[in-house]
Amino acid sequence: MADQMKDDIPQRDGASVKRFDYLSEVSCKFGRHHQPRKVYLTFDDGPDLIWTPKILDVLARHRVPATFCVLGAYAASHPQLIERIIVEGHEIANHTMTHRDLSKCEPEQTRLEILEANAIIKRTCPAAAVRYVRAPYGIWTKEVIAESAKAGLTALHWSIDPRDWSRPGVDAIVHAVLASVRPGSIVLLHDGSPPREWDPNADATSREQTVMALSRLIPALKERKFVISSLPQCRPTN
Ligand SMILES: [Zn+2]
Repeated sequence: MADQMKDDIPQRDGASVKRFDYLSEVSCKFGRHHQPRKVYLTFDDGPDLIWTPKILDVLARHRVPATFCVLGAYAASHPQLIERIIVEGHEIANHTMTHRDLSKCEPEQTRLEILEANAIIKRTCPAAAVRYVRAPYGIWTKEVIAESAKAGLTALHWSIDPRDWSRPGVDAIVHAVLASVRPGSIVLLHDGSPPREWDPNADATSREQTVMALSRLIPALKERKFVISSLPQCRPTN
């Protein structure tokens, strides 16, 4: 069960959950000219046979790194995509095994959702060093944080959500990011869909807008002197 939490976070279904302890932005030292204006791109709910390669192609064209928060169930089905993500210099993070709302899971289920995904990623690609976990729907509880820590994972949230999964239009995705980006921002995007929503014939699971928005966003961020970066080695302190 969810426990004592602070500050509301709006969710997809209009409900809200409470803010907890996680990395939602990377702290930066302002006012130092040599300090790069770093931003971080993250992609959730893959790997997906159709969309992950397209996202990887855009990232490769622009030579920028990203973090892919993958589902263990999909990683098991598409090990070649996990390998490609790593070989091309990106990072894999744990987005649990099957994308359940962990606040509704028993502690044992939560533990398995995290540990099994880690095991599959490791088995698929031993070179992948998994450092971060992102809770499905961004719903964090005390138990999720505790189980993540036990698995040696840092909780990774986000600071910019352009709601690309809802397919609001390429312009809307680009604008939402550019309107609120600042040094240290962690941007949430999607290269797949959770198992319960996945349907290769449904428009709702198309990530074409995300791909198109990404190919505009990267140059726009560079123009604004942002440096798209890999996540830091360890959790920074403020
Ligand atoms: Zn997700």
